[in-house]
Amino acid sequence: MALVHLYLCIIGLIMKKGFLILVCVLAYSCGVIDKRPSPVYFGGEIVNPTSPYLVLFKDDQVIDSAKLDRSNRFKINFMAETEGLYHFDHSPQFHYVYLEKGDSLSLRLNTLEFDESIVFSGKGEEINNFIVELFLANEEDERIVDQYFQLEPDVFDEKIESIRQEKLEQLSALLKEVSLSPRATALINATIDYNAFIYKEKYPFYHKRATHEENLHNIPSKFYSYRNELSLNNKDLIYFRPYYNFMKYHLGNLAYIECKEMCQTNLDANGAIHLNEHKLKLIDNLIQEKKLKDNLYRNVVMYYLLKVRDTPENTLSFMETFKEYSPGNIHMDEIDQLFKDINNLQPNNSIPNLMVQNSDGRPVGLNDISKDKKVIFYFWSAKHENHFKNIQARLNSIASHYPEHTFIGINRSTDYNQWQRMIERYQLNKNNQYRSEDYEMLKTSLVIDHMNKSIIIENGRIVNGFADILNLQY
Ligand SMILES: [Zn+2]
Repeated sequence: MALVHLYLCIIGLIMKKGFLILVCVLAYSCGVIDKRPSPVYFGGEIVNPTSPYLVLFKDDQVIDSAKLDRSNRFKINFMAETEGLYHFDHSPQFHYVYLEKGDSLSLRLNTLEFDESIVFSGKGEEINNFIVELFLANEEDERIVDQYFQLEPDVFDEKIESIRQEKLEQLSALLKEVSLSPRATALINATIDYNAFIYKEKYPFYHKRATHEENLHNIPSKFYSYRNELSLNNKDLIYFRPYYNFMKYHLGNLAYIECKEMCQTNLDANGAIHLNEHKLKLIDNLIQEKKLKDNLYRNVVMYYLLKVRDTPENTLSFMETFKEYSPGNIHMDEIDQLFKDINNLQPNNSIPNLMVQNSDGRPVGLNDISKDKKVIFYFWSAKHENHFKNIQARLNSIASHYPEHTFIGINRSTDYNQWQRMIERYQLNKNNQYRSEDYEMLKTSLVIDHMNKSIIIENGRIVNGFADILNLQY
């Protein structure tokens, strides 16, 4: 269970720009911390719930989970040993919440709009509503900054600095009305700063793309002056998205520059493994905090395994390099499992014989479904009906290119009766529809890391274990 959860976390991490994040320097700078536990209340209402539960985390530890009652309300009372950043998970979404000892905080959230709808009230509301505002403003900023990447470095720098100053002014206005603890103020400052620094770490690469310049632009050293005061080992922020995202872009940027200065390697030919090995080395050199280090290693390895899709020889060699750098990685079991699952899906292997249910409700193995014929598996859920419709439209338009293939839908996360009703409503061929009763198992074993994942089988042998149903090559 823990393994599956971690695995899901990392997929979420890659797909949602990362949610793992750290501020020990701050903790120490705020003087002596009161270690005595103190009661905290966190409760509220979820409109249009997408899960029966709400789970509260401190970093990667579950603090408590609450089941929603009949009016979709929940209550969590716990003894807080530390104040600071928590997050709550209402699957499939999550959000941060800053809790101090003695806080009594209520949340109202409508899942149809999630972030946009979040309102906190009670003791602790000011900082939490401000964090929501900063997150929403940042989404807006991202759209604006996209237009700025074509600007020259000094002009770009001014634009980013003015966005940052505007937020800092909002913070000082807030501080005139309410009093925040030094640690809470430091967290907000970090949100503002790291969101701005991310743009600057992205700049050389996004500028090159926006201007179609042949080489990376020369960047004056004062552009990166904030790097002199970075906190690369900040415990409070390890699980905070702006900080963690910053670390990823920062390492990516440093890796590229280091390679350009030190190596003669042709990055166009064999770049992915080489660049990612630079990242491993930089994490080893720059980061001391064990959890942050392990999380960043995991991010690099997961990205490499899932997104680069390198040759088996390169992949094996990369895994060996990673294990030399991080033999005791806290995510090792999960990474090993993923590596094994990816290997199992290589061409000519037979598909893992996981059990699914046919439309009569009887169990059938994936092997039996795909032996003696050409099969293209795709996955869908009634929870994402538009996605399902997109797939059906796509299948209709490409079917003539695949006269010998059978498209097999595997349903997930839909109860049996609803699944049957959808088969009727959309007039699907019952013989080509199956349902997974243990989707977590299927998801892990078949490395289903995105919604369009597809697997092509011929006579029981894998042809492509990593196809995309909306982008099949024919
Ligand atoms: Zn290099």
